[in-house]
Amino acid sequence: MSVKKAKKPTIQLVKGMKDTLPDDQQYWQWLRDKVDNFAKNYGFGRLDTPILEFTPLFKRSVGEETDIVSKEMYSFVTEGGDKLSLRPESTAGVVRAYIEHGMVNQPQPVKLFYIGQQFRHDKPQAGRYRQFWQFGFEAIGETDPVIDAQLVIISHNFLKELGLDVEVQINSVGDANCRPQYLKVLKGYYQNHRKELCPDCQDRFNKNTLRLLDCKNTRCQELANSAPQMVDHLCENCKEHFMGVLEYLDELDITYSLNAKIVRGLDYYTKTAWEIVETSEAGKLQSLGGGGRYDDLIETLGGRPTPAVGFAIGMERVILKLQENKITPPTSKPLEVFVAQLGLEARKKSMSLFEDLRREGFQVAEAMSKKGLKDQLELASKKGVRYVVILGQKEIADGTVLIRDMESCVQEVVDFRKIKSELRKRLDSESVRLIKVKKKAL
Ligand code: AMP
Repeated sequence: MSVKKAKKPTIQLVKGMKDTLPDDQQYWQWLRDKVDNFAKNYGFGRLDTPILEFTPLFKRSVGEETDIVSKEMYSFVTEGGDKLSLRPESTAGVVRAYIEHGMVNQPQPVKLFYIGQQFRHDKPQAGRYRQFWQFGFEAIGETDPVIDAQLVIISHNFLKELGLDVEVQINSVGDANCRPQYLKVLKGYYQNHRKELCPDCQDRFNKNTLRLLDCKNTRCQELANSAPQMVDHLCENCKEHFMGVLEYLDELDITYSLNAKIVRGLDYYTKTAWEIVETSEAGKLQSLGGGGRYDDLIETLGGRPTPAVGFAIGMERVILKLQENKITPPTSKPLEVFVAQLGLEARKKSMSLFEDLRREGFQVAEAMSKKGLKDQLELASKKGVRYVVILGQKEIADGTVLIRDMESCVQEVVDFRKIKSELRKRLDSESVRLIKVKKKAL
């Protein structure tokens, strides 16, 4: 009697995590290239910090009472007793590195950018993951509103130039001078409506009053719409700074609106705070990124008092929006040559031929594990390759190859030693023809 073995359950993806499959990589490459390009133009240098940091770094910077720190961090204690967390955002690590590497001694502002994974144990839904990527730009060491405006512009133009319809929503959250006074006024207002708040906001009432303004619950939103606004309670210094930022934005061709409910989820923000929302879907605004000034953070983390401002953009969400709007990445250099082989000897020789062509800079493809020519030609055609170099027993014996033009299906016998020059000649004349066709179309 045969005993049935119990089938082992398959191990699946961890909840809230995501695989990025080959078909989506072109979007990621597009974004990464664009980030590099913006960084180069605006003079930002790349900084990579570790994914793991000491937990108190986030408690002190992002704030103990924020959702991110109190509910969403992946924290653990190592065997040696260190309290560590997977970073839920990157600004805190950037500031730690700025202090630790004495960047205060460099010409200010120090302009840095990052691309990296963040971890938040949030409720997974479309566009919300527990591991996700953000890129961000940070300018540390400058108070001038021109820097705030420049960062707003970078975050806006980045998304606009990808082809998305976006709008900047901007606010000022004041500073240690004027915000405490405003919070008293705000608390006074909510005191009368306390029972109407959602359970989360009941909890936030004392711990994080400002966040009552950006709750998504319908009744909380209604209450927030009538709440006293920070902009009416700014001190002279903050007011002047905010006006300065807006004046620069007015000079430029960007769509922005004032939104008193933009407070951002983290404690460290002062003065300017903004979000970039996608506007193409009527009535369904979704934040793609946000930023703000954080003039007190460097001192909070043990550095000298140093002003700073920065933003972060969520990359999964941007890609989701690109796909929803059917915006595709620019096509990369197409494959030019496919090396096809028939028989063991030919396969051996075509492996070194493939390497040779690749090293010479040809965009080359292959399918060494396939034996039939038909399969290989089909694959070449699927990949959109224009020329196939065919190497069989006969060609090996003759010291030749066949070059097949996949468009005309014409095959020509070519001397093995002349493969590269013959391919180059064909590809060059093809690109001249394409340029002519393009010019004609214009
Ligand atoms: P924040 O760091 O919370 O200001 O978020 C900045 C941007 O990061 C958001 O606008 C989103 O695009 C993205 N983001 C934040 N949380 C998540 C998440 N859980 N999953 C995917 N993207 C996120």
